[in-house]
Amino acid sequence: MARCLVTGGAGFIGSHLTERLLELGHEVVVLDNLSTGRSENLDQVKEHPRLTIRNGSITDPVLLGETTVGVDVIYHLAAAVGVKLVADDPVRTIETNIYPTEVLLRSAAAAKQRVFLASTSEVYGKNPKERWTEEDDLHFGPTSRPRWAYGCSKAIDEFLALAYHRKFGLPVVIGRFFNVVGPRQVGHYGMVIPRFVEQALKGGPVVVYDDGEQVRCFAHVKEVVNSIIRLVETPAAHGSVYNIGSDSPVSIRELAHEIIQRTDPAIQVEYLAYRDAYGDDFEDVRRRVPDVSRLAATIGYTPSMTLGQILDDIIRWKRDQLNRSA
Ligand code: UDP
Repeated sequence: MARCLVTGGAGFIGSHLTERLLELGHEVVVLDNLSTGRSENLDQVKEHPRLTIRNGSITDPVLLGETTVGVDVIYHLAAAVGVKLVADDPVRTIETNIYPTEVLLRSAAAAKQRVFLASTSEVYGKNPKERWTEEDDLHFGPTSRPRWAYGCSKAIDEFLALAYHRKFGLPVVIGRFFNVVGPRQVGHYGMVIPRFVEQALKGGPVVVYDDGEQVRCFAHVKEVVNSIIRLVETPAAHGSVYNIGSDSPVSIRELAHEIIQRTDPAIQVEYLAYRDAYGDDFEDVRRRVPDVSRLAATIGYTPSMTLGQILDDIIRWKRDQLNRSA
């Protein structure tokens, strides 16, 4: 049994990770400022005797220092996330994503704590390759486009983590998430599946941006958190970067139709220009598909739930939630 700190533990991925760590018998401290995280995400475990919840920001170095004392493993998930949030507030993105990570890595290196650093497929930027491996180049757009602030800030975190591993032997694993989805994910920050499901359950229309030919791969959060825990527990993974996600591509247009088929086939699809959705300075990533062979070789599996299974789970959750609030 380990004592684990989950920064961002009240967030979408963080809350699923916290529940799983508790289920496995670990002790968990959650640090979350409830900016994008929500305390309801931890409702099912909030009274758990092995869980401590600290409400505060990772940008407070004193609090961060206090919460890391006596911890064996740090899962660093707290960050400014979501394309919409990042485009709206690049200052917050940079301040939240860079300096606190450095503080945390430095203290973890001194205390010999294991670290999982949550990174993102955004670091590949607009790389035109069909499938991205961890050794591929990062292709960011210009600094006048705020979207790239997110991927750049996470790339700096990765450089820092790898440097701490090389210089001080920090046992750190970096995971680049590819469109992680599931119950509790909200649509306010731009994420497509919760938005489409909510639009469909409210009678439509489902609003697809641009031509809908953008391609993504969606992975269920429960499979993703299992992969994270396995990586941290695998010494051979320390000092490496991993793509974490599904490698089954789907276009956003097909995704909209899948959701409509599962909710109400009469619902209409509407198309909206990027300019009207995100403003003039927005650039999308047309295709985002990971090569997950490094993950498979290290832990022996990769997220494998089908899109249909994932959508059924999310629709069931969202229906319950809408019924409860009705
Ligand atoms: N998207 C969409 N409608 C929405 C939200 C997103 O068509 O209401 C599209 C978006 O343009 C992108 C894809 O869905 O091509 C995935 O968007 P999301 O923000 O979920 O993830 P990311 O772009 O970070 O992969």
